[in-house]
Amino acid sequence: MVTPLHEFIDRHERLFVLTGAGCSTGSGIPDYRDADGEWKRAQPVTFQDFVADEHTRKRYWARGLVGWQRLRAAQPNAAHRSLAALEYRGRIEQIVTQNVDGLHQAAGSRAVIDLHGRADAVRCMQCEHRTPRTELQTEMIRRNPRFAELDALAAPDGDADLDGVDFAAFDIPACAVCSGLLKPDVVFFGENVPRERVQLAFNALECADAMLIVGSSLMVLSGYRFARAMAEAGKPIAAVNLGKTRADDLLSLKVTQHCADALAFLLADANPAPVRRSH
Ligand SMILES: [Zn+2]
Repeated sequence: MVTPLHEFIDRHERLFVLTGAGCSTGSGIPDYRDADGEWKRAQPVTFQDFVADEHTRKRYWARGLVGWQRLRAAQPNAAHRSLAALEYRGRIEQIVTQNVDGLHQAAGSRAVIDLHGRADAVRCMQCEHRTPRTELQTEMIRRNPRFAELDALAAPDGDADLDGVDFAAFDIPACAVCSGLLKPDVVFFGENVPRERVQLAFNALECADAMLIVGSSLMVLSGYRFARAMAEAGKPIAAVNLGKTRADDLLSLKVTQHCADALAFLLADANPAPVRRSH
């Protein structure tokens, strides 16, 4: 059976693909929002709080010390593999992901813009020096052995339940180069996506002839604006998402299904010949 989504993808040769949390839930990484687009748990730390408040930073890194173990162990699921297969066939102009887990690349996708950065890197806010998150992890465990043991308290969905823990004692390493403030190399809520990164995505959007949204409610403007630009250009948009999206009234096709299920046909096609790209 050929689904409407299958037809949509066949009909449009160059796809601009925007992916969100729903793409990674199948890899055990929890979604922030429920089907109505509301927060499932407490809203994440904002950029402003992280920069201004030391206690917020201690709490953030202490929780991250535990949560990172799970994120690092996550593997791509069939949704990631389906999109990698589609790119291999030369059908993807660009993947722009709101996820920070690097799982598209782990599945073999190459044309990926990490719109909100990467959780596996840490950046100094003063000198811009970047280090792998694993290095910081080792140093944080060395300095905070008691917190490292709290891993046992982590909830099954990977979000550490550390209520009642005193974070004041948590010792955060500073930048090894300039002693500046370290921050995960991800775009926090309340922080802007770097301008060049947004421009790269818009350049790709102009070259694409349709947009495919996979597992995002587009509740944050950083993703929604791409759907709006696509609609303004008169190009069709399809979305795979379990709940409503902010772009619902801009869509030509809405598929209310798990990402991996909706895209499964891309893995089922037997050994399609890859299309050579002209650039
Ligand atoms: Zn520094």
